[in-house]
Amino acid sequence: MKQKSLLLLLAAALVFSLIGCGADDANTKTQTSETEHTADVVVIGAGGAGLAAAVSAHQNGASVIVIEKMPFVGGNTIICGAAYNAVDPSRQGPQGIEDSVDKHFQQTYEGGDKLGKPEMIRTLVENAYPAIEWLESMDMEFKPEVFTVLGGLWPRAHKPVKPLGTGFIDTYMNYISKNDNIEIMVDTKGLALTTDGNRITGVRAEGPAGPVNLNAGKGVVITTGGIHGANRLGGNALPDITVFGRIAGKSAATAK
Ligand SMILES: Cc1cc2nc3c(=O)[nH]c(=O)nc-3n(C[C@H](O)[C@H](O)[C@H](O)COP(=O)(O)OP(=O)(O)OC[C@H]3O[C@@H](n4cnc5c(N)ncnc54)[C@H](O)[C@@H]3O)c2cc1C
Repeated sequence: MKQKSLLLLLAAALVFSLIGCGADDANTKTQTSETEHTADVVVIGAGGAGLAAAVSAHQNGASVIVIEKMPFVGGNTIICGAAYNAVDPSRQGPQGIEDSVDKHFQQTYEGGDKLGKPEMIRTLVENAYPAIEWLESMDMEFKPEVFTVLGGLWPRAHKPVKPLGTGFIDTYMNYISKNDNIEIMVDTKGLALTTDGNRITGVRAEGPAGPVNLNAGKGVVITTGGIHGANRLGGNALPDITVFGRIAGKSAATAK
């Protein structure tokens, strides 16, 4: 019992120290009395996917608001193992590893019991290395050697220099803290998408001070960490939404 308490304490300390690593709060604000916000793009969920989408949208000229239900950013991403598969001749070559994007595609497809959508897997494998270059362009550092991650089928996993997933979150938060027109509202939970006919116009959310309406001029990105979150926000009811993720523990990528 004593040992269990100690383990729980250590786990809590780890989580809080990671939160400290990842959540630069320069552009992170807790929602106040304002109830109406407008941006080109509204992102729901400030984990790795949401922050990457926010930074990318901003780099492409959009104003962005990210809402996050927790009081801090990072999601599961900040505590993950952070192994990142990508075909990378610059690292694999010196290690004598032969690889190809087609091999990465085939292994990913077969590793998912051939249930994944081939065009989505193709997008993943073809963009894996360009995304590493994109992260490096924002000063994120990866170790010089690749390895075979547990569950992987080939030595193409990259490891960030910073511990766990903190490198990804720090990189995005560093960008966000240095730029205007990209903002994060923590303690703000997305409840539903607002629509005008078949067009998604924004998000209805709940902040610490009450209801919040977010108007999205160009689009809403749902990155709440899984298919179930997206469905709860109304994704199932909207014809133009495609949802990918795990369903009931099966390693399936699926789409409507
Ligand atoms: C222990 C562990 C180790 C892992 N190791 C690896 C690894 O080595 N390599 C790998 O590729 N993957 C790994 N993974 C998986 C990886 O962490 C996830 O696939 C990835 O982090 C998912 O990112 P995400 O942005 O989709 O979700 P998350 O990072 O979980 O972000 C989702 C965010 O959405 C927020 N949110 C949810 N609902 C709402 C709402 N209604 N309104 C507002 N915000 C909301 C959440 O609070 C959260 O911050 C690991 C996972 C774990 C747990």
